[in-house]
Amino acid sequence: MDPAGVGPALLATMAEHAPRLREQIDPAEFGLTGAEDALRGAVTPTVREAVAKLPSGRVALAIGDAWITDDPLTAQGANVGSACAWIAAESIAADGPYDVAWARAVAQRMWDEAAGPVTEWTNAFLRPPADHIIELLATAATRAEAADLMVELFSDPAGNWAVLSDPDEVIRLVDAMV
Ligand SMILES: Cc1cc2nc3c(=O)[nH]c(=O)nc-3n(C[C@H](O)[C@H](O)[C@H](O)COP(=O)(O)OP(=O)(O)OC[C@H]3O[C@@H](n4cnc5c(N)ncnc54)[C@H](O)[C@@H]3O)c2cc1C
Repeated sequence: MDPAGVGPALLATMAEHAPRLREQIDPAEFGLTGAEDALRGAVTPTVREAVAKLPSGRVALAIGDAWITDDPLTAQGANVGSACAWIAAESIAADGPYDVAWARAVAQRMWDEAAGPVTEWTNAFLRPPADHIIELLATAATRAEAADLMVELFSDPAGNWAVLSDPDEVIRLVDAMV
């Protein structure tokens, strides 16, 4: 990537897709502050084993990116990491013994309540969207209540995936708005 080309390319993209935003930008003031501002990379979605027994005999429970690395496109990595940390803390406070069976039960709860829905949702959005998702996005582009619903669902990732993974539910919501 040529760092010098990033600013003009962004301005051209905004002019095409977000003209009102583009009008607010002074091209003379707009650009990278340094070559390191332009980064290009890719994340390979990965779910690792959550539980390991260490040579010492202690049990390790992975959370955050050490356990699951999702693509950043749904912006959920830190969120799901902190949600899992909360579940793990509750489980630690609840009771031991802190053995492999306990750790596996905690990992299952973290997957069911937080990490699983986020991972499914993120991976679904890496693929071409299903028809009901396109319908919802198209409605959100013209109806404020649909846009509000999409944004609100981000604050409840598990609930979000429960809705988005159910075509009938999405179509019911869209039909109620049009
Ligand atoms: C481009 C991009 C955009 C993102 N956008 C969002 C977003 O909008 N919202 C969101 O919720 N998430 C987002 N994420 C994901 C989020 O950044 C990560 O999921 C989150 O930071 C993971 O937290 P973590 O504590 O598990 O790991 P990290 O944040 O990676 O923390 C691990 C820490 O451990 C340290 N460490 C490593 N090895 C050792 C060692 N041997 N000894 C001591 N310390 C060590 C590292 O230096 C690091 O500080 C994004 C990720 C990317 C790549």
